[in-house]
This record gives sequence, C-alpha cells and structure tokens, in this order.
Amino acid sequence: TVTAVQANFYRVRLANGNLSTKESSFQYLLCTRRTRLKKIGQKVMVGDRVVIEEPDWQDARGAISQVLPRKTELQRPPVANADRILLVFAVAEPALDPWQLSRFLIEAESTNLELCLCLNKCDLITEEVRKQWQSRLKDWGYKPVLISAKQQQGIEQLFQLLQGTITIVAGPSGVGKSSLINQLIPDASLRVGEVSGKLQRGRHTTRHVELFELPGGGLLADSPGFNQPDLTCEPMQLAWYFPEARERLQQGICQFGDCLHRDEPNCVVRGDWERYEYYREFLEKAIAYQKNLQDTP
Ligand code: GDP
Ligand code: ZN
Repeated sequence: TVTAVQANFYRVRLANGNLSTKESSFQYLLCTRRTRLKKIGQKVMVGDRVVIEEPDWQDARGAISQVLPRKTELQRPPVANADRILLVFAVAEPALDPWQLSRFLIEAESTNLELCLCLNKCDLITEEVRKQWQSRLKDWGYKPVLISAKQQQGIEQLFQLLQGTITIVAGPSGVGKSSLINQLIPDASLRVGEVSGKLQRGRHTTRHVELFELPGGGLLADSPGFNQPDLTCEPMQLAWYFPEARERLQQGICQFGDCLHRDEPNCVVRGDWERYEYYREFLEKAIAYQKNLQDTP
C-alpha cells in the first residue's frame, strides 16, 4: 500500500505476508515507478495497492510494476481506496456553526464515501447541550460520535471503527483533528509524515496528503484539500447530499423530473425542515458554479 508520494518516489508499506517470508526487517520500501506505467499514463496515488518488482532487500528499494484496481478514488485530497470520511467538528471553542458544518457535510456526502461525523471537545459542554446537539443532528439524519480528545473520551469507539480501513480526516482547523490523531496513534514513529529520509525533503514546501498509520492496521489521511470555497456538485444532485431531503426523495417523487425543489408545484423536498434554507442557498451557489464553468471557454 502506497502511504506517501513525493516527486517520483513512493513509500510503500509491505503486506504482512511479505514481512514473514522475506529475510528483511523493513516494513517499507522506497519505490520508483516502472517506465511502462509512465508510458500508459498510470498514476500512483496514496492508498493504492501495488505490485513491487525485484525488491532490493538490502537497501529497501523497489519499483512499482502494477497498480491494482481501485475501490474508490478521490481527487481532493488525492487518495485511492479510501473507505470513509471522518468529519471532525468541535462543539465549542470554536462554537459549532451549523452552516459551516452543513457546508463540510455536503462536501463529504458528495464523495459518496461512508461518512462518520465526530463531535470533539465534549468536555466543554453540559450533558444537556450534548443532548440538544444529538437531537438536532438526528433531525438532519446524522448520528454523531461524541468525543473529547483532551479527556480521552470516546476514542476507543472510534479506534474500533477505523481498524483496517483507510479513512480521510476532515474538518476546519482548531477543532482538534491533530489532538485526535495523536490519541489514536500515540507512537509518533507511525506518523508517516515524521519519518526521515528522502520523502521528508521538501515536506514543508510541498502541500501533500499526510498519512498516519493506525497501530492495528489501517491509514488515516489528513485532508488539506477539503472544503473548497466553490460548491462544485451538480445542482440536481444537491438534495441527495442532505439526508433529510434524500429520505423525502426516496419516499415520494416530485411532479417534475428535473425539479430543483424551489418553487415548483407538487415538490416533495420543499418543506419545513431546518436546513431547507441552507439547501436553497447552496443550490444557488452550485448553479452559479456550473454557469461559470459553461461561460469560461
Ligand atoms: P486541529 O487544528 O483541528 O488539528 O486542532 P488541534 O488538535 O491543534 O487543537 C486545537 C486546540 O483545541 C488545541 O489547543 C487543543 O489543545 C484543543 N483541544 C483539542 N481537543 C480538545 C478537547 O477534546 N477538549 C478541549 N477542551 N480542548 C481540545
Ligand atoms: Zn422537488
């Protein structure tokens, strides 16, 4: 599994099977990409499962000769085979802003990956406020995992969920993503970004995906590319990214097949749900984005 990409080098973590059969203490090989792959334009992404030809067990080097078919593929951040997005927000400091949360949720929903919403800093609010958020988010169609990275509450539950899978951690800055990752991976040597060697050069000048390896297997990717200022999704798709609207669309149909759920007659989506106003606002943004695309030659 490719855990880091920089320039023309790939850091590849060996499958456990390889580790036991080879006389090698290496868990990683520093690899290049075979010319044949370059010729056919086959890119290698973080998260890719690859085949390594003629590994050099002395120097821990190898060459990638094949990229196995991808289960999923994300462009922002560029990660292959991700299983889910772990969206982290704080319930306080900074205050939970429902609009911003919705904006991130839409972005996450549009990837079609499994989505896990995690609310951090629960130590800063009362049980009552906690219940209020749970109930409000339930109306939105979400069941958040409440944690406190600081007081190590709820971490075990997350840890179990993430085992053996590739997860992309997303969320605004200051909500405690780094603190959470530190809790999940206390051993700093497993944090790929901190490893020395060729891959580290230029680490601070190039923005690239950072990968963290979970002790029990599985990878966490930090996502600098998440939450773009533009709403790039298809306007027709937008309602499907609101679980509470999605439910309405699954239960009934609008009169018009191309209904955008604004003022059309006999629309099943328009209604008195809390985030309908957000839907309308995001819809205008999505329409403006598409129009801008068409107008730009
Ligand atoms: P990031 O920007 O999302 O990576 O956030 P950090 O992990 O850097 O955390 C931002 C600030 O929030 C730091 O001062 C942390 O100590 C604090 N913080 C993180 N998790 C918690 C928590 O569970 N409770 C409280 N009270 N503070 C936290
Ligand atoms: Zn409609």
